Amino acid sequence: MVSSLIYNCSLMETKQITDLKSIIQKPLLTLPSSIKLTEAILQMNSVRSTYISIIEQEQLLGIFTERDLVRLIAQQTELNHLSLAEVMTKNLITINQQELKDIFQISKLLNQNRIRHLPVLNQQDKLIGVITPQSINQAMKPEYLLRYVKVAEAMVNNVITGFVNDSLFSLIQKMVAYRVSCVVILQEQTIIPIGIITERDFTQFQTCNLDLKTTPAKEVMSSPLETVKPNDSLWNVYIKMQQMGVRRLVAVNDTGELAGIVTQTQMLKLLNPAEMYQVIKQMQSVIEEQTQELQHLNQQLTSSNEKLLELSIIDELTQVMNRRRFNQYLEQQWQRLKVAKKPLSLVMCDVDDFKSYNDNYGHIIGDRCLRQVAQVLQQSVRQTIDLVARYGGEEFAIILPDCNLIGAKRVASEIMHEIETLNIPHEGSRTTGYITLSLGVATTVPSDYSSFEKLIEAADNMLYESKKQGRNTYRLNQV
Ligand code: GH3
Ligand code: MG
Ligand code: MG
Repeated sequence: MVSSLIYNCSLMETKQITDLKSIIQKPLLTLPSSIKLTEAILQMNSVRSTYISIIEQEQLLGIFTERDLVRLIAQQTELNHLSLAEVMTKNLITINQQELKDIFQISKLLNQNRIRHLPVLNQQDKLIGVITPQSINQAMKPEYLLRYVKVAEAMVNNVITGFVNDSLFSLIQKMVAYRVSCVVILQEQTIIPIGIITERDFTQFQTCNLDLKTTPAKEVMSSPLETVKPNDSLWNVYIKMQQMGVRRLVAVNDTGELAGIVTQTQMLKLLNPAEMYQVIKQMQSVIEEQTQELQHLNQQLTSSNEKLLELSIIDELTQVMNRRRFNQYLEQQWQRLKVAKKPLSLVMCDVDDFKSYNDNYGHIIGDRCLRQVAQVLQQSVRQTIDLVARYGGEEFAIILPDCNLIGAKRVASEIMHEIETLNIPHEGSRTTGYITLSLGVATTVPSDYSSFEKLIEAADNMLYESKKQGRNTYRLNQV
C-alpha cells in the first residue's frame, strides 16, 4: 500500500516538473563546416559551449564536442590546418521532436550510446536544439529524487587521477584511454585531491598555446578544489553545481582523502527506470525509518503521558480528583481543622450491584454510568472547599471540611435524590431497578487523639452498614 503510493507519487512529480520542451537547449554556437578548427575552438571557448553544431542550408551536418577535441589533442593531431568538416561527427544519433516521449527514454538514449549531446530535429530535419545531461538536470528540478540520495550512492569510486607534477599531455592521454571527462589532481605521494582538470580546460589550453608536454598540472589546474562529502545529499551537490557552474564535484572523506567523484551524467543515470527503482526503494526505506522513529516517539509520548497522569491529580475516567489528591487534601484539612477545632466530614459512596450492571450492559456503558455518577457528586457539593474523588472502582469519597453531621447528612440525601433523578435503568439491581448508591458518612473534629485514617475507617463502616441494610441508603456516625 505505502510502496505503491510512493511509487506513483514520485513518477507523477517527475512528469509534472519536467516539461520536455524545457530540456532542449538552443544551440549556443552554430558554424559552417568550412570554418577552421582553431577558429571554431576560440568561439567555443568564448561562448562557453560544450559543442558546436555544424549547419549548412539549414541541415545539421554534424557536431563537434569538447570530447572530440580532447581526442584530437591526445592523438597529437596538428590542429592548425584542419577545418570543422574534417573533424566533426557526422553519423549522429538524433531524435525527432515528435519522438520525444519522456525523460526516461531520453536519459536511456544518452546513457546507452554514451553520448552527452542529443540533437533534436523538427519534421523538416532542422535542428531545434540539443539535449544534454546538464539541460535535463536543469529543467528537472530533481530535488524530489535527489534529496533522498547520498553522494556515496551516486559517486564513481574509480576516479582517474594524476599528480600535481604530471604533464598535461600525460593527463589528456589518460582521459582518452579511460573515456573520462576529467582527471583529479592529487598532492604528490598522497590520495588527497587538490585540483581538477577537465575537458573544458583543454579547449582553453589550446587557445593559449600551452605546451602540454612541459606544463605540469599544478600550473593550470582549478584549485582550490571545491569538494563534497559522501554523506551529503545529491540535492546539495546539485545546488553547488548550479552555483559554481560546474558539472562534477570531487567527494572527499573526513580526512580529506579522495572518496569519489559525482558528475551530472551520474546524477542523470538515477533517472533510468531501473536506477529510479533503486531511488524509490531508498526513499521508501527512509520513509519507513522515519515512520518507525515516529512510532517509537509516540510510544515514549504515551508512556510519559501515562506517568504524567499518574502524577496528576485527576482521575482520567471520571474527571473528578484521584485517590492521590484525596489523601493529600484530607491530610491538609485534617491539620487545618485540628487547629481551628472545626468539624470535618467524610462521605464514602459505592454504586450498588455494579458488578451485575457491568455484566448486563458491558464495560463501556459501565464507564459512562460512573462518569454520570461522578458528575452528580461533583454538582452536589461546594465547589470551592469540598472535594470529590474516585476512591477506587465504583467507589467515591467526598471530603467536606467545616461541615458537621447535619450538613453532611444534607449532602448525602441530596446525592441520593440526584442519583434517583438520573433514572439509569439497572435490571440486575436488587434495590429499585435503577442505579443507586449506598453511602457511609462520618464526622469528627480532628484532634491528636484521632487520625484521618480512623475517619476513613468510620465512614467505611457506615457504608458497610448501608449495604447490610439493603443498599440505596446512608448511615451516619459522629466519631
Ligand atoms: P455492591 O452493591 O455490594 O457494591 O455490589 P457490586 O457489584 O457493586 O460490588 P463488587 O465489588 O462485587 O463489584 C464492583 C464492580 O465494579 C466490579 C467491576 O466490574 C466494576 N468496576 C470497577 N471499576 C470499574 C470501572 O472503572 N469501569 C467499569 N465499567 N466497571 C468497574
Ligand atoms: Mg458496589
Ligand atoms: Mg465497591
